[in-house]
Amino acid sequence: MPTIFTKIINREIPATIVYEDDLCIAFRDINPQAPTHVQLIPKKEIPRLVDGQPEDAALLGHLMLAAGKIARQLGVGDAFRLVVNNGADAGQSVFHLHLHILAGRPFGWPPG
Ligand code: 5GP
Repeated sequence: MPTIFTKIINREIPATIVYEDDLCIAFRDINPQAPTHVQLIPKKEIPRLVDGQPEDAALLGHLMLAAGKIARQLGVGDAFRLVVNNGADAGQSVFHLHLHILAGRPFGWPPG
């Protein structure tokens, strides 16, 4: 089921894209929760992390490596947080798998 993130992939709505390759794309969050807040998404429509299949293993690994690459590219490679909200009760509002890359302020632990 396409979401607003598919429209961003297809350039049907604007976004500030900071990274793109064959498998994924990353863009600034429209409602940032930190000075750096980027959404990293696979181009493949996987609704939630738990919907990933064994054949997605390389893609999911690619996302993790891309997250580090993007953080370094944005100058926050030494201190950033990755968040995946899986399911509405965990705070997921867009059902296209995405990794929040957050940086630029202190983060508490445990998370809220
Ligand atoms: P979730 O709550 O699903 O984990 O995160 C969805 C994120 O997508 C939120 O941080 C929200 O601000 C962001 N978002 C929702 N719609 C748009 C949009 O149209 N453009 C951009 N750049 N970010 C969006």
